[in-house]
Amino acid sequence: MIVTRFAPSPNGSLHLGHAYSAITAYDLVQERGGRFLLRIEDIDGERSRAELADEFRADLEWLGLEWEELPAQSTRLDRYEEVARSLMSCGLLYPCTCTRADIVAAKPRVGADGTIYPGACKGCAVDPSKPAALRLDVDRAIAEVGEIFWEDELAGMIKADPREFGDVVLVRKDAPASYHLAATLDDAADGITLVTRGQDLFTSTHVHRVLQALLDLPVPEWHHHPLLVDASGQKLAKRRGSPSLADRRKAGEDGRELADALRAEKLPTGITIEST
Ligand code: GLU
Repeated sequence: MIVTRFAPSPNGSLHLGHAYSAITAYDLVQERGGRFLLRIEDIDGERSRAELADEFRADLEWLGLEWEELPAQSTRLDRYEEVARSLMSCGLLYPCTCTRADIVAAKPRVGADGTIYPGACKGCAVDPSKPAALRLDVDRAIAEVGEIFWEDELAGMIKADPREFGDVVLVRKDAPASYHLAATLDDAADGITLVTRGQDLFTSTHVHRVLQALLDLPVPEWHHHPLLVDASGQKLAKRRGSPSLADRRKAGEDGRELADALRAEKLPTGITIEST
């Protein structure tokens, strides 16, 4: 038995890559028994659009999936704040007022997932009149948790190395949590035993695993599935001409047939499954 989830952010329509992800999670539950959950990750206040959550539900139904819906992230902000306060009081977070431009100007090192914060605000008293994010002091976190591992069903046992991310933001300037903190807390609160998501979030799991250790949360397994990519090898995106599921649905395409085609890896021309 597994408990897994599909956790889309309502800041853009879903496309075939999302369908593949949702179907992968759903089918794992059909094979093994358990629960398939939907969680709307609407932490991104300004960019989140409530009507997109309804569109997502209509898309999933059109694909022939059934799910149980969890509370959206916007209803859980108090919990994120409470946990951030406790990490702060243990000295694991520090405020950072750097802007993107400040970080670029410092010529940061590039890690597995973009630039690594060069640490200008670490150990400094920041200007309290400026908006501040809270960053994880990753060296301190590693010293606290020691050597830990996580298991991906496809990639095997992995040593958690959050240094690939550097001092990642856990509380954003504009929201009481970042994706990393919110998703980790929610997966624990929702009793997720298998985190199913795309390979693009593989490296994030290093950070999530460390947060689980710091916060004494249950540790699930992960299933990072390969991504659908377009002819240029990039992740599908509407801005690069990949039609949304809603476009396909409204054009009268059969969603269940599309779901079966994705299961059989019969993909539309120009789209492939990236080998890892
Ligand atoms: N909300 C994230 C996204 O839409 C997915 C998070 C996850 O599956 O952990 O990319």
